[in-house]
Amino acid sequence: MPALSEVIAALDALWPPERAEQWDAVGTVCGDPDAPVTRVLFAVDPVQEVVEEAVELGANLLVTHHPLYLRGTTTVAASTFKGRAVHTLIKNDIALHVAHTNADRADPGVSDALAGALDLRVTGPLVPDPDDPAGRRGLGRVCEVDPPMNLAEFAEHAAKRLPATAQGIRVAGDPTRTIRTVAVCGGSGDSLFDAVRAAGVDAYVTADLRHHPASEAQQHSPLALVDAAHWATEWPWAEQAAAQLDEISDRHGWGLRTHVSKTVTDPWTAHAASAFSAS
Ligand SMILES: [Zn+2]
Repeated sequence: MPALSEVIAALDALWPPERAEQWDAVGTVCGDPDAPVTRVLFAVDPVQEVVEEAVELGANLLVTHHPLYLRGTTTVAASTFKGRAVHTLIKNDIALHVAHTNADRADPGVSDALAGALDLRVTGPLVPDPDDPAGRRGLGRVCEVDPPMNLAEFAEHAAKRLPATAQGIRVAGDPTRTIRTVAVCGGSGDSLFDAVRAAGVDAYVTADLRHHPASEAQQHSPLALVDAAHWATEWPWAEQAAAQLDEISDRHGWGLRTHVSKTVTDPWTAHAASAFSAS
C-alpha cells in the first residue's frame, strides 16, 4: 500500500499546486507523509460532518475542494470549529488534502465535471490559461447542448442531474428560448460575466449569482442564467477526482478504496415558495 506522500504526489500531478490562485491555500493541511493509505474520501467541504464520515469509513485521507484554512491562523484549539476538525482528523490518523483553484484550472477540472454531469460537450475553456499552449486548461468551460432544448427543459435537466439541494435550480430568461451553447463554471461564477458575454453562449450555468451582476447581464443580452447551489455545482468534481485516483491506483497496483461523500454540505437547508405577489 502507498504512503501518503506517494498519493499526494499523484494528486499534485493531477492538480499542480503552483497553478492555484495567489490568495488560495491548497495542499496538505495535516497528515504524516510516511503513513500508509488504504481508503480515501473525496468531498467538497472539510466540515465536521464530513470529517466524521471519514472516521466512520476508516479513511486515512480526506481530499476536499474547499480549504479548511484560507488565511493564516494562530490556533487549532478544539474549541474552534476548524480546530475541532483538525483534532478529529489527527486523532483518527486521517490526512486532509485540499485541491481548490488548482482543480478549477486543471484539465479535466471542476467545470469539466459539471459539464459531464449535465451531459454537455466541452469545446474549450471559458477563460483560457495563458500558460497552457494547448489551450485546454483554464476557468469555466464552453459547451454544446446536444440535442438542443429550451430553457425550461434545460433547467429541468439540470435539476435531475445535479445532486439535490434545498435551493434547487434558479433560472433567469425566456423559458422557450432554445439553448444550444452553454458556459459552465463550478462554484461562484459572477466574476466571469465578461467572458460569458464574449463567448456568445445561450446560457450560463454557475452558482452564487448576485442581484446586480445577474440583472446587468440580462440587460446586456438575452443570456439565460441557470443558478444551482454552490455545493451541487462542485460535487461532480469529487466523483471525477475519485475516478482519477482509482485509475492511478489500478496502474500502480495500490489497491486503494475511494469513496465520494454523499453528505449535502450546502449551507442552505430549506426553501419556501413565494406566496405573496407585489403586482
Ligand atoms: Zn467552491
